[in-house]
Amino acid sequence: MPDRSIVWFRRDLRLGENPAWAHGTLDSTTVLPLFVVDPTLMRSAGDYRRTQLVAHLRALDEQLRARGGRLHVVEGDPVDVVARIAGDSAVYWNDDYTPYARQRDSAVSAALGDRVQRFPGSVVQAPGTLLTGAGNPYRVFTPYSKRWFEAPVHRAPDEGNAAVSDDPGSGIPDAGEPLMAGGELAAIERLERFVAEVDVYPETRDRPDLDATSRLSADLKFGTLSPVQVIGRIGSASDGARAFVRQLCWRDFYATVMDAFPHTVGAAMRPEYDAIKWRNDQEEFEAWCAGRTGYPIVDAGMRQLSGEGWVHNRVRMIVASFLVKDLLVDWRMGERFFRQWLVDGDVAQNVGNWQWVAGTGADASPYFRIFNPVTQSKKSDPNGDYIRRWVPELSELGNAHIHSPWESGPLELAAAGISLGDTYPLPIVDHGEARERCLQVYQAARTRA
Ligand SMILES: Cc1cc2nc3c(=O)[nH]c(=O)nc-3n(C[C@H](O)[C@H](O)[C@H](O)COP(=O)(O)OP(=O)(O)OC[C@H]3O[C@@H](n4cnc5c(N)ncnc54)[C@H](O)[C@@H]3O)c2cc1C
Repeated sequence: MPDRSIVWFRRDLRLGENPAWAHGTLDSTTVLPLFVVDPTLMRSAGDYRRTQLVAHLRALDEQLRARGGRLHVVEGDPVDVVARIAGDSAVYWNDDYTPYARQRDSAVSAALGDRVQRFPGSVVQAPGTLLTGAGNPYRVFTPYSKRWFEAPVHRAPDEGNAAVSDDPGSGIPDAGEPLMAGGELAAIERLERFVAEVDVYPETRDRPDLDATSRLSADLKFGTLSPVQVIGRIGSASDGARAFVRQLCWRDFYATVMDAFPHTVGAAMRPEYDAIKWRNDQEEFEAWCAGRTGYPIVDAGMRQLSGEGWVHNRVRMIVASFLVKDLLVDWRMGERFFRQWLVDGDVAQNVGNWQWVAGTGADASPYFRIFNPVTQSKKSDPNGDYIRRWVPELSELGNAHIHSPWESGPLELAAAGISLGDTYPLPIVDHGEARERCLQVYQAARTRA
């Protein structure tokens, strides 16, 4: 048994159901739990994700103290730091599948050779394990999901008895108040709360006003929960449980697509759409970012994004469709903005979903599917409660016109204290005209290809 091993924590900030931690503590007499504060990753994360990360690191450190050790934190380029700290020791980690992570991990692996032990701790089925009959990575979700649901799920063993190093390194950086309580135990409480609600998930999941989804995306992003553990707890006994687990399959699918087609981080999966002539009007982009487009559901979504670093999935789809299709702004600009603000911001998931909405991605929504922001708003927020929560200047407007204030009469607007173009913007585009313009631009790109 080796004397000392390193377990390098990255986006797996938990001790339970953590293959790298389990194997590291089983295989060695002493383990050094390492976290590297990588300035490159810290720069791309906004405040919400940075403060949440720090809260999770503190909680992980607490758990390690209870085992007599500390989390060893070092700031720097992980390629240098890990090789330096490892010396002759073996290094255990759970894989990540973004192009940046893969490049970083290859460089560390090259420095350490066969002392690296890698595990698939952030997904249920590691990219590369499920392939088509022809041996290729899947590009289409339905056949992928069929294989995924049939494939055996591998659980991590229980952790071993290795002593835990008590050297804290340079310590955990300071940060402000997180959005949610940090650490694995708080995440398990969040999971338990949702388990009681999962049976109604199919009926409520598309209703941002009810806020009835799990909100576990950030715990999955940071790895305070493992998807294997979530599936184990949710089970498959009800339609609700199965519908929920299907969403986790989408999560694995997008990790697989990013792993197999890393160029899609910045280019269309379907190259004909790289020829789209985006308008990229800066003023309109800024109105979208600020939640001042004049479309209440879009504005509510964008204000929720900056207000709490999380947005309901249906609303993410509506605001993304509005940016890409109604305003003809390049999906990469929206993707970057989302990634900066989202507490669950995750390259593979964000890019995969943006490309789905833009119609440019693997198994994407067809290019001619253009969300009507008013129809979508009426369907997903029938009483306007979500809009009233995030766009308070419209809160006195009745249900008939809360989704499209420009259709209200002057008396109705006056009674609600609204002056369009002043207290709330007029729509920055006419959806009907924008829809036609979008179809022409997409068709032109397809013809050029
Ligand atoms: C434009 C756009 C950008 C997105 N960016 C991200 C992102 O950066 N990070 C992220 O985790 N999710 C992203 N999503 C997917 C989805 O919106 C969120 O995962 C979901 O809203 C999180 O809320 P929840 O945990 O309550 O979801 P639930 O409905 O409770 O779903 C459970 C879990 O399934 C997974 N999941 C659900 N929907 C999707 C989906 N469409 N694609 C992949 N996995 C899914 C998530 O891990 C989620 O936590 C994006 C969606 C869109 C349309």
